[in-house]
Amino acid sequence: MQEFDLVVIGAGPGGYETALAAAGSMRVALVEKEELGGTCLNRGCIPTKTLLHAAELMQAIRRSDAYGIRHGEASCDFSALHAQKDQVIRQLRDGIALRMKQKKVTVLKGWGAILDEHTVRVRGEEETLLKTERILIATGSRPVIPPIPGITCPHVETSDTLLEKADGVYPRLLIIGGGVIGVEFASVFSALGSAVTIVEALPRLVGGMDREISQSLKMLLKKRGVEAFCDTRVMEIREENAGLRCLCAQGEKPLELDSDGILVCVGRRPFIGDLFADGFSVSADRGKILVDEHFQTCYPGIYAIGDVTGGVMLAHAAAAQGRCALAHMLGKAAPVSLAIPACIYTDPEIAAVGMTLEEAREKGLQADSRKYPMSANGKSLLSGQERGFIKVVYEKDSHRLLGAHMMCARASDLISEMTQALVRGSTLEELAAVIRPHPTFSEGISEAVTLP
Ligand code: NAD
Repeated sequence: MQEFDLVVIGAGPGGYETALAAAGSMRVALVEKEELGGTCLNRGCIPTKTLLHAAELMQAIRRSDAYGIRHGEASCDFSALHAQKDQVIRQLRDGIALRMKQKKVTVLKGWGAILDEHTVRVRGEEETLLKTERILIATGSRPVIPPIPGITCPHVETSDTLLEKADGVYPRLLIIGGGVIGVEFASVFSALGSAVTIVEALPRLVGGMDREISQSLKMLLKKRGVEAFCDTRVMEIREENAGLRCLCAQGEKPLELDSDGILVCVGRRPFIGDLFADGFSVSADRGKILVDEHFQTCYPGIYAIGDVTGGVMLAHAAAAQGRCALAHMLGKAAPVSLAIPACIYTDPEIAAVGMTLEEAREKGLQADSRKYPMSANGKSLLSGQERGFIKVVYEKDSHRLLGAHMMCARASDLISEMTQALVRGSTLEELAAVIRPHPTFSEGISEAVTLP
């Protein structure tokens, strides 16, 4: 039996970042049944963004004519693209393994199961028992597969399987779910040559985002040939005429949509499968592990972070929660504020932090908003960007920033400045006092926060 101060189960960004941070002051083991890096590195953020980068290059080539660049028709060699994606993943994975070695974290490959508060069993090539002071559960999530008749037909994919398809894109791709994954994949695959259709059950795409972002996104996708049917549900999938037919209900109206492949992205569910041995478990609610504000479960020595707790399913949220959990284990104050920015990597990007105007008013705050259209921003114009905007939500009396919502080039970078302002409780005047270089996208922030 090996002894540790902390055993981390799950090597996604939440698990591996916390293992590395803990290694300075604890004897740490990291247990992973698959590859280091979790969903984010192996089946999520990194492979998707590599394909997205290819899609952006493709768009840039298409738009380059206006800048006097003459070239032949661009095409994509999908096996080369996938080889590049796999190379990026391998390099990052090797980097994590190296950091584990340098920090003397013991990495064990196999299924981790919690036998009791202080014992973890790892079943890999051999079975190992680990004795530990504390356990951190960071086992992530899995795609939800809705019980739609025909969902098991060939060519019905999840984001995991579609990312592995290296023999080309589906000529017609139907996406069930217009949430984050749905719109990101629509952006990528339409640029790479698929005719994309989205079917979304709610009245708008990316329902959690600012309403105007949803509207602009729908218009932009339409301009690129992506048809989005909102208020629409897929009732059945059938194999027909060498393709797939989706029988949908658009409100009361029947609608039939044909495709060659279907991507199902209707959300993700916490993954706990076989994590607890018989007779032992932590408190959970509908599959989500319940934690307190320190990410501690009902057992003081067992913590849980990230997707498995069912909150905000984002890599950077899991890593931040891990830092808070670790601080609590060490008797320190939480080192990060949990104002979590959200980004959607469409083209243009979408990013948000804090409250929308509706949320602020629902909370009873006297709030207002200001919006700056990026069509008036020099950098956006000179680089041929699509329409976009930066919107700030603020308290009417104090002008304190309550939220920021953007849809523009580099929104995923610009949002960090707004996150910092939010954490510090900055006012619009304080934000306006900052000098931002010219010509940059960030000048849009200066415009958005300058009150008349
Ligand atoms: P999501 O919750 O963002 O969106 C799922 C969508 O599917 C919702 O809009 C929902 O209304 C719709 N839906 C559900 N059932 C449906 C049905 N039967 N027919 C039609 N529509 C239906 O989930 P997701 O896009 O699968 O993403 C999963 C998680 O991964 C999310 O928490 C997301 O934040 C995270 N993620 C984040 C990023 C990022 O930060 N850029 C990227 C990918 C995934």
